[in-house]
Amino acid sequence: MIRVAVSGAAGRMGQAVCEAVEAADDTELSGRADPALGTGLADVLGEADVVVDFTTPDTALANAEACLAAGVHVVIGTTGFDLDRLEAAAEASRANCFVAPNFAIGAVLLMEVAQTIAPHMPECEIVELHHDKKLDAPSGTAKRTAELIDVAGGNVHEPIHSVRLPGLVAHQEVIFGGEGQTLSIRHDSIDRRSFMPGVLLAVREVGGLPDRFTVGLEKLL
Ligand code: NAP
Repeated sequence: MIRVAVSGAAGRMGQAVCEAVEAADDTELSGRADPALGTGLADVLGEADVVVDFTTPDTALANAEACLAAGVHVVIGTTGFDLDRLEAAAEASRANCFVAPNFAIGAVLLMEVAQTIAPHMPECEIVELHHDKKLDAPSGTAKRTAELIDVAGGNVHEPIHSVRLPGLVAHQEVIFGGEGQTLSIRHDSIDRRSFMPGVLLAVREVGGLPDRFTVGLEKLL
C-alpha cells in the first residue's frame, strides 16, 4: 500500500484526489492537509510515502520544498508557479518530485499531436478555457503546449488566449493556420475525474523515477 497525503484536500481537485486514492486498491489516504480542514502539511507528512499537491500558485512551492526536505516524494498538479526553483529543491533532496500541468490523457495526447503538426503548419494560436475560479492565466497546460510546439516547429511564442467563465472545467484548442486551410485540435475535461488515472499513475511511479525532477505525464506513459 502506498500511503498518500493530499495537500489542498478541501479544494475542487483535492477532494477528487482523496476519493480516487481511497477507491484504488494499492493506495490509502493517510492524511488531508488544507486550511479549511485545520490541518497543515506538517501534520500529515510523517504518515505519507507520497504527497499530492493541488493547492494555489503561492503555496505550492513551499509545500513541495517541505515534502522534499522531509524525504517524502511529491506529485504536483498546481500550476502558475516557478518550476526552476522547484527543480533546484528537488535536485538537492533525497526524494523525487513529479509535476504535470495536466494529468488528463486526452490533454497529453493533444500536446503530442500538436508537436507532430507543428513542423508542417508552424503558425498557430492556443485558446485555453477554464472555470472562473482558476487563479492563474494562461494555464500551465497552455504554456507547456506552447513550449513543446516551439521546440517541434521552430515557432516563437504562439499567442495564448485565456477564457474564464462559469460552467467550464478545463478545455484547450490549438488552431493551426496555413495557406487556404486551418487545422484545429481540441481537448475538453468535462469532469475532474478525467485527471485521476494520471494522478494515480504518478503516485505509483514517482518513487521509482530515475531523476529527482520530472515534468509531464507523457514521461510515464
Ligand atoms: P481550489 O478549489 O481553490 O483548491 C485549492 C485548495 O488548496 C483550497 O482548499 C485551499 O484552501 C487549499 N490550500 C491553500 N493553501 C494551502 C496550503 N498551504 N496547504 C494545503 N492546502 C492549501 O483549486 P482547484 O481548482 O482544486 O485547483 C488547484 C490547483 O490545481 C490549481 O493550481 C489548478 O490550476 C491546478 N489544476 C491542475 C490540474 C492538472 O491536471 N495538473 C487540473 C486541474 C487543476 P483555501 O481555499 O482556504 O485557500
